[in-house]
Amino acid sequence: MIEDARQTLDRIAEPASVVEDSKRELHRLWQPAHAAAEAEVYLDAPFSEHPVHCKSLLYTSPAGGPQLFVGQDPSALARKLGVQSQLIASHDAMVYPSQIHENLYLTSMGPPGNLLAFANWLKQVSPAAYALWHAQMQSSAHYQSGVAYHFFASGRQFLGYFVALPKTARRVHSAKEIRAFLGTNVYQDPLPIKRLSAQRMDEDYLVRRNLEAEVPDLRGLQVLLVGAGAIGGFIAQNLLQLGAGGSRAPKRVVVETAKILKQAGKKSATRSLALLAENKGMLHICDRDLLSGGNVGRHVLGTQDVGKPKADALCAHLKRLRPGVSVRPIATGFHTLEGELERYDVIIDATGYETFGRHVSKTVRAAGWLRPPHFLLHVWLEGRGGVVRGLAQDDASCACYDCMWSYTAGTEPRPRHPAYSDAKWNAHGDDGYATMTPFSVSAPMAAAALATDALMSWRAGNAAPRFRSRSSEGKGIHPSVAKDLSRAKSCPGCSG
Ligand SMILES: [Zn+2]
Repeated sequence: MIEDARQTLDRIAEPASVVEDSKRELHRLWQPAHAAAEAEVYLDAPFSEHPVHCKSLLYTSPAGGPQLFVGQDPSALARKLGVQSQLIASHDAMVYPSQIHENLYLTSMGPPGNLLAFANWLKQVSPAAYALWHAQMQSSAHYQSGVAYHFFASGRQFLGYFVALPKTARRVHSAKEIRAFLGTNVYQDPLPIKRLSAQRMDEDYLVRRNLEAEVPDLRGLQVLLVGAGAIGGFIAQNLLQLGAGGSRAPKRVVVETAKILKQAGKKSATRSLALLAENKGMLHICDRDLLSGGNVGRHVLGTQDVGKPKADALCAHLKRLRPGVSVRPIATGFHTLEGELERYDVIIDATGYETFGRHVSKTVRAAGWLRPPHFLLHVWLEGRGGVVRGLAQDDASCACYDCMWSYTAGTEPRPRHPAYSDAKWNAHGDDGYATMTPFSVSAPMAAAALATDALMSWRAGNAAPRFRSRSSEGKGIHPSVAKDLSRAKSCPGCSG
């Protein structure tokens, strides 16, 4: 620890390194020495270039330290973090969430400890942020609402301070009174500040933290996941993490809708406009089965859900992970939805059943649903679970599910890309693929990973390769395939 501190001090002694070091480690350096006693701050403010006025709620958990929830709706934020009760209203907050600002950094003066030092520091490191803050400090509304917390964007995080304003602050109205107040409390006898670091909890950050800037997430999409089994369970969790069932940032919807309007026909344009008005994503999970004891060894759900409908239990699980997300179980089976396909942007067939895959593929084509910007994805395990596969369809001209076999008159259809060298391993029972063959939880996880990657490549603007296959290492397993399949000759699924 002492050595660590000495190294830090040595570096700080060199002005040239101060800026770079403190940009990288600002959040650690900003925290007061006894940060453990301070509240953990969680922030959920909308993206804006202007300061956003927020409320705050304080919670002291019996087990941990105090938590402060800051946002326009801090009780919704508290619920998001699993806190429902014993919340106490705290002071108002001003959040300066502009991303036009550069990363803030510390000067050789070290972190500020009072309002004057803070003003001088901010003016030096970010004149733009200083201008916004200064304008607030000149506004009488600021004093009337008793704003005591200030948070500033730095890179992708927020740091700020708390200041206990004297009671006289509420009586500040005129420009003259404001000048006098600032003269006393900032310049003559600067008020001490408590430095705070905030964790972002806004949806944009939670969903996009790990995505490349140009890749759209899944918020705002209408997604149907068919199959809440081992593969579907992991896929559902992945979809949630990528924003499915969440509302989309309005700005992004507008840009994308404009793009879609340009590319697509009138029908989907009308639908896009309806979505723009709604701006709400939805994840429907369709499965008729109950969870059994035999499922839990490779399912995201556990023993407490045995005996419950898989779709219901999976949706409840997702809501625990992300309160407020729009997910809905559909326990009636896919056939009940066949007249309503137009409401979905994305359909994922995660049942793993070959007969069902053929059925879905034919159904969406017959309904005229298979056209941009719609997306259908099948994902399944081959034989003994050593190979996971996915087939994407985003246009009627793509290879269909049946195109994975070759058809010669008078013979049985043969797989065009067999997964195993031993033909017997490719065989499957009447009930679909390999339901009884031993494979561990790693196989459905691999299938869900493949499905997630396929979906996100489509989201990024290129669905290719539409046929994907990943193999585990093992004898007799054919290597991975990644290509766009040509359509099979005389395919019963898509010819004629
Ligand atoms: Zn076909």
